[in-house]
Amino acid sequence: MIPSIKGTRDILPPESDLFLEVEGLAREVLHLYRFAEIRTPIFERTELFARSVGEATDIVSKEMYTFPDRDDTSLTLRPEATASVVRAYVAHRLWERASISRLYYIGPMFRRERPQKGRYRQFSQIGAEVLGSALPQVDYELLEMLCSLLERARIQGWELRLNSVGCVADRPRYLAALRAQLEPVLPSLCADCQRRAVSNPLRVLDCKVEQDQPIIARLPTLDAYLCGECTSHFAEVQRLLSAGGVPFTLAPRLVRGLDYYTRTAFEFVQSSLGGQNALLGGGRYDGLVEALGGPRTAGAGIGFAIGEDRFVMALQAARGATDAVFAGAAIFIAVPGAPQQTAALSLARDLRAAGWACEVGEAGRKLGRQMELAARSQARWALILGETEVSQGVVQLKRLADGSQRTVARPALFATLTAEVGAPGAAATWEGAGTV
Ligand code: AMP
Repeated sequence: MIPSIKGTRDILPPESDLFLEVEGLAREVLHLYRFAEIRTPIFERTELFARSVGEATDIVSKEMYTFPDRDDTSLTLRPEATASVVRAYVAHRLWERASISRLYYIGPMFRRERPQKGRYRQFSQIGAEVLGSALPQVDYELLEMLCSLLERARIQGWELRLNSVGCVADRPRYLAALRAQLEPVLPSLCADCQRRAVSNPLRVLDCKVEQDQPIIARLPTLDAYLCGECTSHFAEVQRLLSAGGVPFTLAPRLVRGLDYYTRTAFEFVQSSLGGQNALLGGGRYDGLVEALGGPRTAGAGIGFAIGEDRFVMALQAARGATDAVFAGAAIFIAVPGAPQQTAALSLARDLRAAGWACEVGEAGRKLGRQMELAARSQARWALILGETEVSQGVVQLKRLADGSQRTVARPALFATLTAEVGAPGAAATWEGAGTV
């Protein structure tokens, strides 16, 4: 057996159905807010991430999967997608099509992190970007949308942590203050932070090492270093959130792991996730478009990325059914006699055309065995099509839960199924799904 790569995983049914459900829910909400999907490549030139995410970030300095192409161009599996979306925005001059571009993506990202529960080397993100407006209103609507997604998914126990990391003009003064305070305590910091304190002191605030926390808690906060415009931008975002009833907690030392963020920075943490409790994160990045060759006038942007794997974990915790069984309205067609094979296949085709999911047993296998298979395939109903049934133009409809069975005339079958099984194409339900 060839083992899979460390930090990657196979997502099997029924868990994969939860991923589909989350994606479906996210798409629905995103479309309500007028986002459209963008699909960018999974690998890009390394310089794209180095320039946007930042050379001195953990992601770029030690977590990227980078390899030379056959012509020696350095390529990287994307560790995040904002850089790609902004690259595409610039390449296709999307600001000429609409004054505001609202784009979303769903797909795998790659980071060579230390794997643990909720942290993988290949993981999936659902993310979105709003490009072309710096208005606080845009920040507000994005956050409101995320709340409504969590609400629809019935995920509770979350907290929106909010900060402003200021603009490029504010940064040098703050970094100087950070450096000054870090210098005397440098030897007490973890090895990573000793390096960060010099190369990129903002990243020290992001450190999760226990021994560093008392030091971090005493570091200056950004709010005192914001310029007037950044202060009023942040105040307006907070005002709108309060007016809209979106609960948030100020997190004055919240910074994000990527260098391109300006002003609004946020994350949603969730109580059921354990150590890796960040469900999603994001923020404003008003200089990124320009840094990647676009015009300053169309440059403002804000976005977020949801960790889809963690969203699914939160959903599983909320439903209290990690081993939830997919209990769709699946129908199993049992065909005890080989000669009835064609009739069974044609019935299956009619059912599917009408919108019912169904499975056909192996024609000619013993009925008892087919019933066992029907139960194992999670079907709730069986249609038995034997020699008598075919010749009389009827089918036996059996409810697998209690074994009750009755004869239904073929012309009445669809109406009976609609009444008993549910309308064709009706959404599958989750057994064990509870309200939280
Ligand atoms: P980031 O792109 O670092 O802002 O991360 C956004 C979200 O992606 C985080 O809040 C996590 O939910 C998720 N995430 C980041 N890294 C990983 C990882 N290695 N494994 C699983 N989820 C991740």
